[in-house]
Amino acid sequence: MNDAFHRKINYLRISVTDRCNLRCVYCMPEEGVELINHEEILSLEEIIRVINSAVMAGIRKIRFTGGEPLVRKGISSLIERVNDIPEIDDIALTTNGILLPIMAAELRKAGLRRVNISLDTLVPEKFRRITRGGRLSDAWLGVETALEAGFDPVKINTVVIRGFNEEEVYDFAELTTKMPLNVRFIELMPIGVSDLRDRKSFVSTTELIKILQNRHELVPEKVAGNGPAKSYRIPGAMGTIGFISPISNHFCADCNRLRLTAEGQLRPCLQSPQEIDLKTPLREGASPEQLADVIRFAISSKPEKHNMEQAGWAGNRRWMTQIGG
Ligand code: SAM
Ligand code: SF4
Repeated sequence: MNDAFHRKINYLRISVTDRCNLRCVYCMPEEGVELINHEEILSLEEIIRVINSAVMAGIRKIRFTGGEPLVRKGISSLIERVNDIPEIDDIALTTNGILLPIMAAELRKAGLRRVNISLDTLVPEKFRRITRGGRLSDAWLGVETALEAGFDPVKINTVVIRGFNEEEVYDFAELTTKMPLNVRFIELMPIGVSDLRDRKSFVSTTELIKILQNRHELVPEKVAGNGPAKSYRIPGAMGTIGFISPISNHFCADCNRLRLTAEGQLRPCLQSPQEIDLKTPLREGASPEQLADVIRFAISSKPEKHNMEQAGWAGNRRWMTQIGG
């Protein structure tokens, strides 16, 4: 359905867990976030009920995220069930890749066709630092396994952070010349509270494109399903390079999404603290149509745009892992 600003909202991002097997510095505080009790997290059955009602409200595309969606028990069977809902024409998943070596085959079998893997550095020691203890070799094996398992496309999401990885953007770009990967550089967002999400760590897309053009010709390219990313290809490369600019060029005018947190709250906008409670009606036996009405209300509550650039660097205290990235 359309929201109050004539945008067609057809995309639901579902956080299936607030738990994670990594602790990325811009996503979680060092001590970890206070985890939600298991019974507060929506069950797989409840998630299916939400999706069936979301379909009634016009949702056609689902993305599973978190926390780390692959640590959620039953994620493959959830995907399999969503794959059987005829109105859903696209299922995607965002993962840190660590569990892909053991799960890629079952995810493919469940009907998942594409995957986004978050990877911020290609240097093992830096990977350990940014994820607070992760091993790059595990994540990289995840990327290789995803390609071998036939996921198409395999997208790599790289958050660019000044002083940490802006020098590495050439290496990421060069990956696309040898491998059929869609590398997407994402602007750091002021969500959560950490030194790294300070304004000085921010690198804009405009600056990044200039850095890359020092070494490579970038030919604009249309990539289907690349959402708000601006896409390019190095001539002759197997893969593409995209830029996602939530801050410098926010894509709110084209926003088509709604979010569901692991504890069953609908978030009309990533940045706005407004949440609409779907769990209570779910647990009080609401009918599919009643749930669809709550979802329609959330869609109609979407603000025109976020104001992260003005308010965000000081304010948003929810971490990405709690909202669902
Ligand atoms: N664990 C999965 C993963 O890392 O892909 C899914 C959840 S994670 C919260 C989703 C995405 O949000 C990741 O690509 C991560 O880099 C991104 N993210 C987290 N905090 C961010 C921030 N402050 N700014 C920009 N992106 C952020
Ligand atoms: Fe975990 Fe993903 Fe957040 Fe990193 S970005 S801590 S992998 S949820």
